[in-house]
Amino acid sequence: MKHYSAFAVAREALRYHTGWERAWRSPEPKKRYDAIIVGAGGHGLATAYYLGKNYGIQNVAVIEKGWLGGGNTGRNTTIIRSNYLQDPSAAIYEKARGLYEDLSQELNYNIMFSPRGVIMLAQTQHEIRGYQRTAHANALQGVQTEWIGPERVKELVPIINLEGPRYPVLGGLWQERGGTARHDAVAWGYARACSAMGMDIIQQCEVTGVRQENGRVVGVDTTKGAIDCDKLGIVVAGHSGQLAEMAGFRLPLEAVALQALVSEPIKPCMDVVVMANTVHGYMSQSDKGEMVIGGGTDAYNNFTQRGSFHHIEETVRALVETFPMISRLKMLRQWGGIVDMTGDRSPILSKTPLQGCFINGGWGTGGFKAIPGSGWGMAQLMATGHSSLTEAFSLDRFKEGRFIDESVAAGVAH
Ligand SMILES: Cc1cc2nc3c(=O)[nH]c(=O)nc-3n(C[C@H](O)[C@H](O)[C@H](O)COP(=O)(O)OP(=O)(O)OC[C@H]3O[C@@H](n4cnc5c(N)ncnc54)[C@H](O)[C@@H]3O)c2cc1C
Repeated sequence: MKHYSAFAVAREALRYHTGWERAWRSPEPKKRYDAIIVGAGGHGLATAYYLGKNYGIQNVAVIEKGWLGGGNTGRNTTIIRSNYLQDPSAAIYEKARGLYEDLSQELNYNIMFSPRGVIMLAQTQHEIRGYQRTAHANALQGVQTEWIGPERVKELVPIINLEGPRYPVLGGLWQERGGTARHDAVAWGYARACSAMGMDIIQQCEVTGVRQENGRVVGVDTTKGAIDCDKLGIVVAGHSGQLAEMAGFRLPLEAVALQALVSEPIKPCMDVVVMANTVHGYMSQSDKGEMVIGGGTDAYNNFTQRGSFHHIEETVRALVETFPMISRLKMLRQWGGIVDMTGDRSPILSKTPLQGCFINGGWGTGGFKAIPGSGWGMAQLMATGHSSLTEAFSLDRFKEGRFIDESVAAGVAH
């Protein structure tokens, strides 16, 4: 892999940029791999990367039915934070946030991590209690967050209207080292590093069946033929249910579309991320100047990856009271992604009833922030059969009633 550096840019400028290599190879599948990961989103690619880096397992294929990063990883609003309530969540999201801090250096790929700070606004008495409780829990978990009053919110977000008639701003949960990163770059950076380790990223190849013998996975059927493997990781977000069905088990998940939109670019006006969960809306400003706006999920199960008109109105209406200036903005684009939601709003990282087959899904509306931590834990689980990061997120919890309730941190919030 050619090292990216200021020196390399200067050298290539002098020879008309003829010396750059492709960031990743596009090979045909081999007959057999030690491990196959289905889904080249951030979680799948990060799993492959840490399998290679931390455990030396490099005979790995990542199989993707579309193009890498074309699922939710390339469709999300890129919020990164770790201010969850329960200990297992705080551990995995904080691990991920910590890894994001120097992921650009680690991958030698600029993922544009911007720890600009994230505020979750409290706009009801109930939210004040919820977020103060989270701030206390975070203090015990070693996650740096802080409860702040309305004056501090106004200092951080001058364009905010504190005195909305329905939902005044009563304070907020502030995480100073939360922020955003460039979503595609996270997928591209991991893909380039995996390819450099000799792993095969096979795009335009759909997994259509999971082959098994005596209760153990032995390979997959794909649109490019059958491929054998010793271990299989299913990491397909909104399609987890379909893949699980191919492998012969069921998951307690539902798939729904989640939408987002961006405005025309405007001058810099807000340099933190603001989430207003009571009214179902959140907003940040991209480096290009667009206001990146997201709302809630569709109210019915579906697999459309598009936006719909009623969502624009609903989401913008929700935010206008708190940010009156956006009423004059033109919206440029909207889109959707398929997210998989569990009942307790926490993910599933687990062994499955099929030996050698592992599942990573159920990240719902908030898995982008978790990509490095999830990949780290999933790789450990696949390589060694155990990971303290993923233990609490096993499938058994639904049978045993060990729910990890994150409805305050993740029900609406991303
Ligand atoms: C609009 C929107 C906003 C969001 N905002 C945020 C946010 O601000 N912060 C945050 O943390 N999270 C956010 N999320 C959630 C986040 O995007 C997801 O949790 C995360 O990207 C999931 O990553 P993944 O790698 O698991 O899935 P994906 O990126 O969806 O990757 C799964 C891949 O599997 C592939 N696949 C599926 N079936 C098959 C098959 N049969 N064979 C081969 N390949 C297959 C798909 O094509 C896809 O590329 C948002 C999501 C959406 C849709």
